[in-house]
Amino acid sequence: MARYSDESRERVRDAVDFVELVGARTELRKAGVRRYVGLCPFHEERSPSFGIDPVEKLYHCFGCGEGGDVFKFVMETESLDFGAALEAVADRAGVELEREEEDPRSAERRTRRERLLALLERTAAFYVRVLWEAEEAAPARENLQARGLEEAALRQFRVGYAPSGWDRVLLASRRAGYSEEELRAAGLMTRSKEGRMYDAFRGRITFPLTDRRGRVLGFGARAMRDNQGPKYVNSRDGEVYRKGRQLFAVDLARVAASRVGSVVLAEGYTDVIALHQAGMQNAVGLMGTALTEDQAVELGQLARTVLLCLDADAAGQEAMVRAAGLVAARGNELRVVPLPAGADPADLVSSDGGGEAMRTLLDQAMPFARFQVERALGSAQIHSAEGRDAALAEVADIVGPMPPSVLREELVQLTAGRLRLSEALTATVLGMRGSAHGNGVRVEPRPALDRLDRTERSFLALCLATPDDGARRLARMDLEALFESPLTRRAAAFVRDHAASPASALPHDDPELAGLIAELVLRADDVEPSGATLDVEVLQLELARLDRGIEAARAEGAAVTALAGERQRVRDEIRHKLH
Ligand code: ZN
Repeated sequence: MARYSDESRERVRDAVDFVELVGARTELRKAGVRRYVGLCPFHEERSPSFGIDPVEKLYHCFGCGEGGDVFKFVMETESLDFGAALEAVADRAGVELEREEEDPRSAERRTRRERLLALLERTAAFYVRVLWEAEEAAPARENLQARGLEEAALRQFRVGYAPSGWDRVLLASRRAGYSEEELRAAGLMTRSKEGRMYDAFRGRITFPLTDRRGRVLGFGARAMRDNQGPKYVNSRDGEVYRKGRQLFAVDLARVAASRVGSVVLAEGYTDVIALHQAGMQNAVGLMGTALTEDQAVELGQLARTVLLCLDADAAGQEAMVRAAGLVAARGNELRVVPLPAGADPADLVSSDGGGEAMRTLLDQAMPFARFQVERALGSAQIHSAEGRDAALAEVADIVGPMPPSVLREELVQLTAGRLRLSEALTATVLGMRGSAHGNGVRVEPRPALDRLDRTERSFLALCLATPDDGARRLARMDLEALFESPLTRRAAAFVRDHAASPASALPHDDPELAGLIAELVLRADDVEPSGATLDVEVLQLELARLDRGIEAARAEGAAVTALAGERQRVRDEIRHKLH
């Protein structure tokens, strides 16, 4: 992929209204000279510790430490990568992006890919037209509507119908200037044994499979009749589509998932559409396959909490256990939605009061550990001692490794009750004596900064508040000696070089540094800058450096008299400046 030019990225940054962009996520009010504050969109809080600088277009939360520039904000809140976030902001600001010069080979690859994507896009539009206009699609329309799916929702998902003729897409695409080779690469054509080309999807309801940005990469297609071969057919792997990479409707769900902090994973296409139609827009779908590692990564990036809303039958439960391993390995919170046996979300949503009923089920989603314990106890032979021992052993595998928490305690009680054992015995067997209580807090506030880190940061904030003076001073300082932590040392070098417009040079490959710079810019809004304060802060850093020197010398048993004398001199100077 070719990069966009830095110059056009900066035009986008200049053009965007940051207050409006962030204001759509959280209510902001003016505080300080430039700063706006509001409740943090990244963690739960009751009083605002989140602030933005509307000029530099940087944000920082003093509660959870999240921070960055306008592009990082869109990446985080809309689950996009940098390129996609840049394009999204450019779109909103009405700025056209320019690509950097690229070598002919990669330019050719990009043009080819763009042509294939355009071909898939027009094919999706063609299928949609056929669904709503063609007579042969009437049974498909009835079929979808019988499932309670409304036209508006079906159009939003670009559900379509592939006509049963052998070459409708082939002929139309050729007329539009596409070659057979391109049609094959896009997964739209199949070649028969006799070498004849024909449409890959025929007489089927089509569901476009898109990437996060809504670009069509392929199709899933459902049969209309029993004698039509497999019930579902997906695009074959090709240049654009790769099996097991995407989640259905990820483009339509990502913003809602990021906003509510959870993503619902449902099984089928119509389940997902029904959920969205009923207002649960954070739902995505598996595409008829077991969850892959790529999909688990994608899920984990969409939201912190993943709600598994899969079939309750035995196969579905197996699938859930497999999926759980993949999702939990990424540190996401995993919950299981208790679907009644034999019911799928589409049925539930289309029945009376279905939206509400479904929402209640989502609210009742249980921690995955509870689901597993219930499952083990549900299949236990509780009438024999051996059966109960076996169940206990199975539960121990699940509960044993859990840290002490209220949930763990509850699972012990549940197990004791079902197996008719004393809680004491159950607790012992499950590997715990006594109990402790977890607190269920999800986002831990950052540990308080130590004094030195505070000194270093407040000095850098001051430098940003008086950029000319600050940069000059930093240029004269020995950053290596004066800044103890590697991160603030990097920040000091950055402020020295970019004090006047920090946001435009923010390093995207160093998120830690980018976050700290955002924090410093927000701190800078609070300080009363003056040459005298800067003098004192420099002396404070000097003092800290001498303290480190003295400590190191003592550790080596060396003399510290000279350093101590120097230290006294710096202290006196600070006292003098302060009075
Ligand atoms: Zn926060």
